[in-house]
Amino acid sequence: MNYLRQEGIFDQGILNRSHITIIGASEIGNNLALYLCGLGIGGLTIIDKENVMQANCIFSPNDRGKNKAMALCEKVNQINADIETEAISIGFEKSMIKNKDTIVNATNKIIDFSGISQPMFIASASNYCASFTTDQKNLPEFMGQTQGPLPSSMISAILLDEIRKSIMPLEGDIKFKGRFNYHLDSKFSHNREIKFLNGISADFSNDNALIVGAGGIGTYVYMNLLGFNFKNIHIFDGDSIEDHNLNRQVMFYKAIGKNKAETLVRRLSHLAPKTESRFANLFIDESFLDRHLSKYNFIFGCVDSWKTRKMLSDYAVRYSIPFIDGTVSAFGAGAYVYVPEKTACLDCQLDYTHLIKESKNAIGTCLLAANSNVVMNNALIGSYMASLARDIKLNRELVYSNKFRYNSKKGRIDLVKSPGPCDCGSKK
Ligand SMILES: [Zn+2]
Repeated sequence: MNYLRQEGIFDQGILNRSHITIIGASEIGNNLALYLCGLGIGGLTIIDKENVMQANCIFSPNDRGKNKAMALCEKVNQINADIETEAISIGFEKSMIKNKDTIVNATNKIIDFSGISQPMFIASASNYCASFTTDQKNLPEFMGQTQGPLPSSMISAILLDEIRKSIMPLEGDIKFKGRFNYHLDSKFSHNREIKFLNGISADFSNDNALIVGAGGIGTYVYMNLLGFNFKNIHIFDGDSIEDHNLNRQVMFYKAIGKNKAETLVRRLSHLAPKTESRFANLFIDESFLDRHLSKYNFIFGCVDSWKTRKMLSDYAVRYSIPFIDGTVSAFGAGAYVYVPEKTACLDCQLDYTHLIKESKNAIGTCLLAANSNVVMNNALIGSYMASLARDIKLNRELVYSNKFRYNSKKGRIDLVKSPGPCDCGSKK
């Protein structure tokens, strides 16, 4: 694995000397293992006695009937051959814990960890929510629930950041303490039980999504939108896969040189048989937008260029289409939403023109941190952007009219009120 894009901020030697044991290879265990492939650790033990029932982002249809721990370890070996894996296909016993281990209970079950002194995290999920704890407290309300892909993908990204702080603390890190909750409807809460494990369902069967960019953010937007049963998902990227992408674009293993959008669609589209997924091996431009944009109901901006973002924003305003934009930095991530007649456009919210000018000035300074890009922030923001489509669909204005900001160093999420509608639409 090429760790070039995180070497400026992470000590890969420390990560390489660490070992993690994940109990449970359902959605949370799958996502954690997937992200760990990008982060890079020395050893990973997966414990699960059950067999794969259905395909997901990790398990292929051919894995059905195989032991989950074994199938997951096989996948980890494919994605990052540097990680030494061990699959245990029987139930967990305390004797399986290693000396310098970090343990994650990623089952929805209560496990007795009394007497264990190693660092430990407990994470559970339902179809609509997920939680983790850092204080060895089990999460009994999730017993018997099925781990849903989107809540699991979100909670795993935030949890892996906390695990990173535990195995490789960095100066200025503030660790999260206690219990963290994420719910698709009620969003984030701390240190209390989740009262309602279920939520409202949203119907996207007549909707078309446009994903611009199939890199770090686009990978996780696409993976999570596959669970929404869209009519069409079109994903654009003119970029080819390079080996320094793989530390966060973890679905691109063994595909160096191939097109990013094509690789995602070829590898994952079978997971949503009701959705027609299509890719385009090109960078989106104004002539395409003029010809095709009116047929989309959602635009996801997953690019790293302020200029492209401004172009998408202008078009979203002109055609009155919700636009969800995401950004990542070395230690953070953000998501911003434009909904016609409900919020200001994203050019008014973020001032793209100023950001375009600033990014031009920054060329040449190239600080290591500015150039760093890690898996957790991409997975978190991509998953959250997908969840915002649901909030827009359900007209949950209180949620989508807030800017989302994740600060990894402080271990916190802020939702900051966006300005109300602007008059850019009437000018165009
Ligand atoms: Zn505006």
